[in-house]
Amino acid sequence: MDSAIIERLLTDVKDPEVRAAFRRVDRSRFVPSKLKASAWEDHPLPIEEDATISQPSLVAKMTEALEPAPSHKVLEIGTGSGYQAALLAELVASVHTIENNPRLSERAAERLEQLGYKNIEFRVGDGAEGWPEAAPFDRIIGTAAFPARPEKLLEQLADDGICLVPVGPPEAAQYLTKYRKGPSGIESHRLTPVRFLPMQ
Ligand code: SAH
Repeated sequence: MDSAIIERLLTDVKDPEVRAAFRRVDRSRFVPSKLKASAWEDHPLPIEEDATISQPSLVAKMTEALEPAPSHKVLEIGTGSGYQAALLAELVASVHTIENNPRLSERAAERLEQLGYKNIEFRVGDGAEGWPEAAPFDRIIGTAAFPARPEKLLEQLADDGICLVPVGPPEAAQYLTKYRKGPSGIESHRLTPVRFLPMQ
């Protein structure tokens, strides 16, 4: 891939580790073969089963906003193609990812195994429930929009944990929302307006 294109997608990303991981993961491996030429265009692409892979610059920015560190255990909601999971797996100790569509989950698991990732666990189910048996998580990221504050996920957050999720009712604006669990409870901040598929 033309490195100038990748550098442009990383314009707003400062974290050197996130930048390096973004360059290492070949996005064209995560899109349908007929769309490979478009893999690095900066918009979402359809994958299969009516799902989409999010736009690359936003995936990079969300990954940075999650403040990942090598010791972290991360939960992702909405496995989709597995691209965001791969990027996280480059940066943290382990990734747990939940997808409600069994076929997408299976395809992503196959793909990530072929790519050699050994630190990702997959579950088919409703991501809104989180993954209580594996909690607490240092970081939680949602890649489908929650209609309201993701209470179950926040319960599964470790102390000092960060949860980054698009929040907004189906017909209204969604905001990427960052929750942080501090000594006096959960603080939340709205980052930018976004458009994600709603949680099913
Ligand atoms: N992270 C993905 C993009 C995900 S798009 C990637 O990097 O490719 C949102 C995904 O959330 C879709 O795959 C959709 O099937 C899934 N999804 C929708 N509702 C869900 C739910 N309730 N639980 C888990 N996953 C869900």
